[in-house]
Amino acid sequence: MSNALPNSMQARDVEYLLHAVTNARRHEERGPIVIERGQGIRVFDDEGREYIEGMAGLWSVAVGFGEKRLADAAYRQLQKLPYYHSFSHKSNEPAILLAERLVGMTPERLRKVFFTNSGSEANDTAIKLVWYFNNARGHHAKKTFIARQGAYHGITIASGSLTGLPTNHRDFDLPIIPVKHVTCPHHYRYADPGESEEAFSTRLADELEATILEAGPETIAAFIGEPLMGAGGVMPPPEGYWQKIQAVCHKYDVLLVIDEVINGFGRLGTPFGCNYYGIDPDVLVLSKQITSSYQPLAAVLISDEIYQGIADNSAKIGTLGHGFTAGAHPVACAVANENLDIIEERGLVENARVVGEHLQRELRRRFADHPLVGEVRGVGLIAAIELVADKAAKRRFDPVGKLGLAVFDAAHEQGVIIRAIGDQIAFCPPLIITEKEVDEMLDRFARAFDQATAGLN
Ligand code: PLP
Repeated sequence: MSNALPNSMQARDVEYLLHAVTNARRHEERGPIVIERGQGIRVFDDEGREYIEGMAGLWSVAVGFGEKRLADAAYRQLQKLPYYHSFSHKSNEPAILLAERLVGMTPERLRKVFFTNSGSEANDTAIKLVWYFNNARGHHAKKTFIARQGAYHGITIASGSLTGLPTNHRDFDLPIIPVKHVTCPHHYRYADPGESEEAFSTRLADELEATILEAGPETIAAFIGEPLMGAGGVMPPPEGYWQKIQAVCHKYDVLLVIDEVINGFGRLGTPFGCNYYGIDPDVLVLSKQITSSYQPLAAVLISDEIYQGIADNSAKIGTLGHGFTAGAHPVACAVANENLDIIEERGLVENARVVGEHLQRELRRRFADHPLVGEVRGVGLIAAIELVADKAAKRRFDPVGKLGLAVFDAAHEQGVIIRAIGDQIAFCPPLIITEKEVDEMLDRFARAFDQATAGLN
């Protein structure tokens, strides 16, 4: 790193830390932004610069930074019972209360909760529980998952296999588990010219059915999807998509696993993405906003039918041989309970709906007509703008991602943190954000956008 003082945090970071989802050589050149503290929708680096966190960390800090109630809840629980687990009949009160609460607030058929530490582990758990259940009911060949191209479901061996993004597979030898990736439900990019959203949905449901029939329904275990795709580029599904997909899944006894790691707890302006799109899952995966990411925690909810199969099988084998040392962690669960109290008391789901409408409107008003913007999209407090080289032809830049990276860097300079997924620029601010703060975020972003695109149009 050219300009870091020896022994500075920046220099020591470059010396010792291997960063997630980062170009390691580029990192050696430019070094880290060391975030020191946060308050509300803002974070501050160790040089005193202030940023609006337009991504809520990693789509996750619902109640904002510096929320003392969560720190207090963690401290109280650390003093009372800092750790316990859920193996061999042990339990703890925060985990029990949280499980009860999650069952109460999610779709009707979901009856039991299994806790993990991350969304990836939760999706691995979902895969394993589906396999275990299918083996329990004698459907030994029913193993393959169907996911979507462009989807993000995590990075472990199994969840990373479900992920449909080349950069998460390449040179990691993934996918490994049996998985088929079907067309990404992104109308702007993948619909045929003139094809309506409904017609596109019908085509994707037909593709799903053909995929199931080709492999044999007796081999297809589950379909997994986010209600609205997040980390793959913020893609709301086309009209009628989930109704048609669910119908195909039911027809062939293909379980529906819904990954609400990003959508869950108000992001779309409804409690869950399932509520927004009318989805009735067999398995539901939650994480991130469950604790506002103040503690690592994820949850897998399963239907009673799946639970009964698993319970019978565990009795036959002698145990359900699956669990994590830090699963159902009392401190994480206590923080989650307090976090969900705050979301409820402050009406943050409704805030996401109302302020989300403002965000969506303003993004479109300010950027939709720009010659380098192909599409502005999103629901509630999650949105993206897609940068294109040719608006009429929807042609991508070559190479993809170079302009996205320039916008990302310029945004830092202007004091706003966004995410560049190739040339798709994502926004996902904390649920506490106000309309005035949205305007401030977009003012900063507009300056960054002008800076990065100067001379390009
Ligand atoms: N599923 C979805 C939809 C996600 O967005 C993510 C992470 O962004 C994951 C799963 C994986 O979660 P984690 O990073 O906690 O493993």
